Formats: sequence, C-alpha cells, structure tokens
Amino acid sequence: MSRADVDRAGAVRPRTRSIGVDPDRPSAATERVSILVIRMRIAVLSDIHANLPALEAVASDLPQVDQVWVLGDIVGYGPQPNEVIATLQAMGARSVLGNHDGAAIGTVDAAQFNPDARRAIEWTAGVVDANTRSYIAALPEVRRDGDVTAVHGSPRDPIWEYITGPGIAAANFDHFETRLCLFGHTHVPVAFRAVDGQVEATQGLPGDRIALGGTRVLLNPGSVGQPRDGLPDAAYALLETGDGAPDDAVEFRRVRYDVDRTQRLMRDVGLPARLAERLSFGR
Ligand code: ZN
Repeated sequence: MSRADVDRAGAVRPRTRSIGVDPDRPSAATERVSILVIRMRIAVLSDIHANLPALEAVASDLPQVDQVWVLGDIVGYGPQPNEVIATLQAMGARSVLGNHDGAAIGTVDAAQFNPDARRAIEWTAGVVDANTRSYIAALPEVRRDGDVTAVHGSPRDPIWEYITGPGIAAANFDHFETRLCLFGHTHVPVAFRAVDGQVEATQGLPGDRIALGGTRVLLNPGSVGQPRDGLPDAAYALLETGDGAPDDAVEFRRVRYDVDRTQRLMRDVGLPARLAERLSFGR
C-alpha cells in the first residue's frame, strides 16, 4: 500500500515520524516513514434501499469503526431516500453506485426492473432532492482503497451481475486486484474464499465470525433495508483487516429494527404493498 493510497483512503491516518534528520542532507527533512495502523475495522453496509429505520438501527449497533463502506442500492423500494443519503453523508460513508441508485436519477436504465421495482423507482425519482441527486451522480461504480475493492454487483459487471454462487464468484476473482472485494446486489450474506484454486462459499449466519486466513475473498454483507435470506433483521458486516493479511476476519451481524414503521411509511406514500409485506419475512 503506497502512502498515496492511504492518504486517498482518508480514514487511515498513518502516524509519521522523521528519521535520519541530518541538516547536511537536503532530503532529510522530508524523509518520513509511515507507520500504518495495523488493524482496521470496516463496517460494510449494502442495499439499504431507502429504509431509514433499518439504517438507524445498524448505525446505533455499530461499534467503533475506522471506515464505513456502502455497496450501492442506497435508494429504491423504500420510503426515505433523501433521509438515508443524508445519514450516510453524516457517517462519512464511502459508497458505490447500485442499479437502483442510477435508475433513480435516470443514469441507469430501469427497463430490466420488475413492475414493483419500477413503480418504486418512479416514485423515488419523483421525490429525490438536489442533495440526493448530486450524491448519487458522484458515486463511482468501482471503489478501491488499499486492500479493498468495492462494487455493487460484481467486479466484472459492477451494476448488474449477481454473484449467486461459487461458479460466478470464481469467474470474478480475475476482475479485481486487491485481496478483498466487497459486493452486494443479491441481498444474501456470504463469503467466497479462493483456496488452492477452488472457491469456497460460507453463508453469513447471524453473529458468525469467520477468519479469512489471508486468502482472497469476495464478501457480501447482506442487505440492511431488504434482507432476502429469510430473516427480517437488518444485515451488515464488520471486516477486520490491515497489514497482516492472515488476520483478516469478518463478522456477520443482524439488528432488529422497527419493520412496522418502514411498512407504514411505504403504505402512506403509496409504494407497492408487496414491497412492504416482504420486509416482514426477509424475502
Ligand atoms: Zn438491491
């Protein structure tokens, strides 16, 4: 990791000290050694889908973290897109673009959306404020800081591809260069690890902490605002990483939130009833 990378990353502030201070050497004054913070804890959130009660529950569950990464689909489906974006701004989140985000501001084609998703995105497009619009417009499709790459769908096709199993995961390991790649889009928590030329899938069960053993990993934290693994609680992950790759680990977490409140808000603004009902079941 170069110092420039670290500086661009922002939140990892290398402590520096001058070495070999020798007034006769012109370079001495600027010669510095970066001492990286060894361990870094990253909160990984995805597919919030304008569900503010779910995001607020996750935010209050968060322990002290160094960074917050958000893997797209910040809006769409849910009733509070502007409030969710403002909350992420306050959290200093590093976000990437999801298909619903782009569709909400007209930069991604919503033709592939199912009818409920399209109705929801049309409603969203009608309520996004200037701040939300400019936030989404500035989102990259791929984000890379240090050992971590982030995308919404897959590194091969950041907006649309669903990584649903080890085969698709295997095909994607050649499409990013970092040790870790964070993705979302499927709304299902899972870690795909590349081990001896094979890809192993580990389901992200609530509360599980998985040692990643220094292998390359494609990691999905699940969905904050519309889980689809049969559990209604908001999903996110805590990633521990740093210079010591063998110490990489991920913890899959779930947080109960006020599902009724989100459903009421959805009904109040006329979003499709089925989208509200599915939140009760995590489907
Ligand atoms: Zn999504």
